[in-house]
Amino acid sequence: MRTDGQRRSDNFEDRGRGSGGGGMGGGGLPGGMLFAILRRIGIRGILIVAVLGGIVWFGFPQFRAPIMQLLGIGGGGGEVAQGEGSVCEAEAQACDFSRAVLASTEDVWRQQFSQNRLPNYGSAPGAYVDPTLVVFQGGVATEGCGSASSDVGPFYCPADRNLYIDPGFYAVMESRLRAPGDFAQAYVIAHEVGHHVQNLIGATQRSVQGETQNQTSVRIELQADCLAGVWGHSARATLAIDEADLREALNAAHAIGDDSLGQTNEASFTHGTSAQRMRWFRRGFDSGDPRQCDTFAVSQAQL
Ligand SMILES: [Zn+2]
Repeated sequence: MRTDGQRRSDNFEDRGRGSGGGGMGGGGLPGGMLFAILRRIGIRGILIVAVLGGIVWFGFPQFRAPIMQLLGIGGGGGEVAQGEGSVCEAEAQACDFSRAVLASTEDVWRQQFSQNRLPNYGSAPGAYVDPTLVVFQGGVATEGCGSASSDVGPFYCPADRNLYIDPGFYAVMESRLRAPGDFAQAYVIAHEVGHHVQNLIGATQRSVQGETQNQTSVRIELQADCLAGVWGHSARATLAIDEADLREALNAAHAIGDDSLGQTNEASFTHGTSAQRMRWFRRGFDSGDPRQCDTFAVSQAQL
């Protein structure tokens, strides 16, 4: 692929090096406080809290993340100081490349939204809203999703509509995951942009009755892979994407499948198997049609 001569997006922010960044889940109530509260309210109190908690948990899924955060179970909240310095000073090429890919996703998704070629989840999404790509190093204090360390990999925060990427992840892909190549990196950005698209069309809030949270997560992740493929299809000409690039993306999709990352228990899968991730990326890439990416319209067996 080639990005020279192409537009660079300005929806880009260099957040610098985050000091701390000791991993997710450092926040929430101070240690021991939760235990002290539970002892205080006694067994009847605990039962009442449990019942109320259950009602909120299952009736209002949108409150799950903040509850988890309050309790200090995953989802961020760690202490990361505001970033210092610049990431792009040392990672000029990665930053420039990311801005070019982001610009290309903007072009593609603005057009897809204006033609309303999208899976339909009940509400008309209107025009595409550009997300902002935040690059950071080590750790980052997000606006809407608490704090995160680079260990979690690139991610999208629906609450602030930012994509967060530590360019160091590209080196991790190359060495530890054996997924090298510029188009493999582009696929990662396009996948996170896919999550943004899902946020705009209302896919993020969807669930399938009787399915676990992990099963829903697999649907969400495979759809993001498919949407990344749609971008690849549409950008093929402008970015000179060839067969070797496609192989890089499929290799990356394979490398980050739950089974390839060492998971053996299917119930714990959150992103899908290598075969599934490759299949859904391919489906988007071959069709170029986001409506082919409706992972909520098929059964688990068809995913
Ligand atoms: Zn994802």
